[in-house]
Amino acid sequence: MEIVQYSHPALRWKSQPIREINADLRRVVEEMFELMYAAKGIGLAANQVALPYRVFILNLSADKDVKEEEIVFINPEILRRKGTTEGEEGCLSFPGMYGNVKRAAKVTIEAFSLKGECFEYSLDDLAARAVQHESDHLDGVLFIDRLTESSLRELSPVIAGFESQFRRWQAEGRYPSDEAIRQELARLESR
Ligand code: ZN
Repeated sequence: MEIVQYSHPALRWKSQPIREINADLRRVVEEMFELMYAAKGIGLAANQVALPYRVFILNLSADKDVKEEEIVFINPEILRRKGTTEGEEGCLSFPGMYGNVKRAAKVTIEAFSLKGECFEYSLDDLAARAVQHESDHLDGVLFIDRLTESSLRELSPVIAGFESQFRRWQAEGRYPSDEAIRQELARLESR
């Protein structure tokens, strides 16, 4: 398992809800935390490790020793959004790139934990921004789709650079074709 970069097709996959919380999923989540900490991130969605599962993880401290900040969101649903706020975002699938995104200032989100318990959080600031960014991933939506006009103008060449890098990797055989990746995602999803 690895964190994939734009324009890996898994990043555009709209994931279906998880039907069963089992040992496989727990193992995936554990590995996602390891990858997220290694990349110094605060959030990671399953799409970013090329898995079509409706789950993302968060640790706003970005510190693997602060376990109490670890949250797993399974089948999350943003129930309410309030206000708007603009702020800078990055994404582990676009390493080194940062741009401004308008988001709701406050959100209420519902999800299931790894124990299968339903929980609800009302969040603001960084936490609200992070869960909106990560929830988007599960629908195949990326922060580049929501950049402010000036950030988009500034970052367009960088985004194009990520895309051509990924195409180069495909040409070198490091990744299969888009079609083969999508077939694999569909296969994993139907299990
Ligand atoms: Zn992201």
